[in-house]
Amino acid sequence: MPKTFLMKRSAAMLSAFALAAIGGPLKVQAQPSTSYDLAIADLVMANHILAYTGVLDAFGHVSIRDPGNREHFIMSRDLAPAQVAADDLITYDFDGNALDKLMLHGHSERFIHAEVYRARQDVGSVVHSHSPGVIPFGMGSAALQAVYHMNGFAHGVPVFDIRKSFGDGTNMLINNAKRGKSLVQSLGNSPVVLMRGHGDTVVASEIRRATARAVYTEIGARIQAQAIGIAAGRPLEYLSPAEGDAFEGNGDKTEGTDRSWNMWVAALQQSSSESR
Ligand SMILES: [Zn+2]
Repeated sequence: MPKTFLMKRSAAMLSAFALAAIGGPLKVQAQPSTSYDLAIADLVMANHILAYTGVLDAFGHVSIRDPGNREHFIMSRDLAPAQVAADDLITYDFDGNALDKLMLHGHSERFIHAEVYRARQDVGSVVHSHSPGVIPFGMGSAALQAVYHMNGFAHGVPVFDIRKSFGDGTNMLINNAKRGKSLVQSLGNSPVVLMRGHGDTVVASEIRRATARAVYTEIGARIQAQAIGIAAGRPLEYLSPAEGDAFEGNGDKTEGTDRSWNMWVAALQQSSSESR
């Protein structure tokens, strides 16, 4: 049997499995068959995975570029990610205007996503979080580094300081296009940008990779903080850019990414069945 067929079949089965785990409004669509349906199922699942792994709590959000229109993106209404279902998803243009479900209240920080998609044609998914382990590395004492292969992409990570462009006394939120553009300038071509006193924004070509990157940005930050503590001032050896890039060079949808995704889906299903 051709490998591509197996991959497609396993993606469809996984998404059906994901839908069963999610429950709620998605139950009416038990067998997503189009690439759009699969993308929506993955977006709902990414919300749940990122909440389950502690990257997102009551706040933060994940989006995808609209598979049907590259000038649009899709993200949930203003809702805790763990509670997101397909009916909560809104399509936006790059000015942050909702194009459907106009009665729903959107996230004020949707401008992060809008401006990333506008500026970065290579990006298909964006995660913005207040990832707790990452916050210390936006505070100026130590730069976030690639500590192991799983966060090999995290070298030369820029830090966005809202104060530099917008002065003291902002509410720290990226809640308009001007702030979004300023953040994206700091992001540059990086897969992640830290945000002083706020969190981080992680991007990737597609949602499973963005989800894995967001999780491993958080795990890597915790490992680095631990290593700094153990080192007690002695120098540390991080991954070089060449080492990080070599692992990333496995492809934009590595086996590791799908393996992690499948594990998180299985863990969510198990925790959902245990709570019934
Ligand atoms: Zn935020």
